[in-house]
Amino acid sequence: MESFDSELWKLINNTEDYIQYGCISDRKLPDMMIKQEEPDSLEKIAAEIAKCKKCRLCEKRRNVVPGMGVLNPDVMVIGEGPGADEDMQGLPFVGRAGQYLDKWLVAIGLDRNTNCYIGNVVKCRPPMNRDPQPDEIAACMPYLVRQIAILKPKFILTVGRISSGVLSGQEAGIGRLRGRTYSFKGIPLIPTYHPSAVLRDQDLRKPVWEDLKRLKAELEEIKNVH
Ligand code: URA
Ligand code: SF4
Repeated sequence: MESFDSELWKLINNTEDYIQYGCISDRKLPDMMIKQEEPDSLEKIAAEIAKCKKCRLCEKRRNVVPGMGVLNPDVMVIGEGPGADEDMQGLPFVGRAGQYLDKWLVAIGLDRNTNCYIGNVVKCRPPMNRDPQPDEIAACMPYLVRQIAILKPKFILTVGRISSGVLSGQEAGIGRLRGRTYSFKGIPLIPTYHPSAVLRDQDLRKPVWEDLKRLKAELEEIKNVH
């Protein structure tokens, strides 16, 4: 049973609330307002992704693939979504295309363990490696946007039509998009072909190499300024 004191205390609080808010407020509210919000982190995002059911891609995934790499990377590479190997391991770009991508990066002094972050637009594998659909991309984008805000990459390299289109905001296909630098929320963005496309079509090697050389040059330029 509550004591008279606590009843009286409640009455006083409620009266104060009426005067201040015109209704009885939840007394916990001021505490919540004082409590600092926990800062966002890659770990927090990864934990949310692990439980995420915001789109149908959650149904067939084995593992989520939030991304990997370092904070403040020189380059954040963004693909479209996990394939079979990535889904098995929970890591981005670890299959054949990923090993090829690693070679591209090494060629311009980059490495996923020291100065890059590698991620994807969607964090769960689309069945049969189909393209992620617009509603799936829309559902998953907030995670990527938060990751980019925390990572603060110097450059974004989008590989393939999907991530290049979504992040540059341009409708044109990758063949017409590439060759220029765009911007995502103030971060310079260079689009190029997807490594799996280049594995299928050797003619794409030359334009990819041009894009990578330009990325290297522009990165060095930024580093010299700062
Ligand atoms: N293709 C992608 O777009 N992302 C991966 O992580 C692997 C293959
Ligand atoms: Fe959630 Fe993204 Fe996976 Fe869809 S793809 S279930 S939005 S984490």
